[in-house]
Amino acid sequence: MTDSVTRHIENLGKGQFPAYIYDLSALAEHAHAVRSALSGPGSPEIFYAAKANPDPEILRTVAPYVDGIEVASGGELRHVLEAVPNARIAFGGPGKTDAELRDALELRVERIHVESPHELKRLARLSQPVGGADVMLRVNLAGDRAGAALAMTGPFGMDPDLIEECRPILAASPWIRLRGIHAHLASGLNAEAMLRQSEQILAWARPWLSSAGVKSSEINLGGGMAVDYAHPDRRFDWLTYGEGIAKLARPGETLRIEPGRAMAVYAGWYVTDVLDVKHAHGDAFAVLRGGTMQIRTPVTKGHDHPFTLLPGTSEGPAAEGVPVTYVGQLCTPKDVFARHIPTDRIAVGDVVAFSMSGAYAWNISHYNFLMHPHPTFHYLPGE
Ligand SMILES: *Cc1c(COP(=O)(O)O)cnc(C)c1O
Repeated sequence: MTDSVTRHIENLGKGQFPAYIYDLSALAEHAHAVRSALSGPGSPEIFYAAKANPDPEILRTVAPYVDGIEVASGGELRHVLEAVPNARIAFGGPGKTDAELRDALELRVERIHVESPHELKRLARLSQPVGGADVMLRVNLAGDRAGAALAMTGPFGMDPDLIEECRPILAASPWIRLRGIHAHLASGLNAEAMLRQSEQILAWARPWLSSAGVKSSEINLGGGMAVDYAHPDRRFDWLTYGEGIAKLARPGETLRIEPGRAMAVYAGWYVTDVLDVKHAHGDAFAVLRGGTMQIRTPVTKGHDHPFTLLPGTSEGPAAEGVPVTYVGQLCTPKDVFARHIPTDRIAVGDVVAFSMSGAYAWNISHYNFLMHPHPTFHYLPGE
């Protein structure tokens, strides 16, 4: 935990739990380190994937260190442009509506990632009267995603057969400017696995783009850089990835990546206090204020969320030297932050600070379930 977060927690009043604390200075430092690792010749452009955490403060903090922002809906598009008005934008996502495509054209999105031949046809129709559109075709390659937390199989993009159906549409719509290929195939890959995947994408995309006559082609290699919740210190090796990508890069070609989780996750904490401690059928439970309706991450990932326990006022029952299961206030056995965690001592009034809560945490949560008060939000400023 950073010193400024610890200090901030100490000064929080009881009425402010649960609290989301974002350390913007730590975020800026991390984004700067990522940028530095990817700054030499052959480095890819970085577009931050807004869906990981679209909080305006997060967007504004990351923006100076990245080349652009990737959005996945018309809602994200408008939101991001409000927070970072001049951002370069790439717009992806399956099932884009006509209204969203019109927004993308009107707001001059830099690249539209097209996910199907049907979408390409609709975009061709909508963009003809307004000067065309700049397009990347999203490919969905098969292949070994061993070690991935999530393989993006299914409806995302087009497999190599389906993408062939785009050729006649492009030929009939010269106002569509095909810029390149987009691929986001898996998430949770370490640097070595990510490099192997990037190589596979390039091996497929280069001949396809040259057969389509694309000059100065662009290849978006996706996001999905690994984050290890069980080992918060094992971070994605950006230096190794940067060096590897630089070796794969070719002159005249633009590579791009779009990380989300690995950019924002370390900058957020969900902090709350212990309301009750009890034993049931041989297990010890700490009941925390709030719950997984405010940080859905441990339930969606099915993991024990990492945390730091800060001793508090010890004003009630305690558990000592036993494994403790950390739960929230929801009336469901699924409301678990972490199971059977060896704990020296925990008592009512202690404070639990869940780290790695800066991405896919608050913004994916069903926070009105049971109508508990929402968390308070705190932004620790940069230096
Ligand atoms: C979600 C998503 C990302 C970001 O993935 P992370 O695992 O957060 O890095 C990038 N690109 C696309 C198309 C996505 O759907």
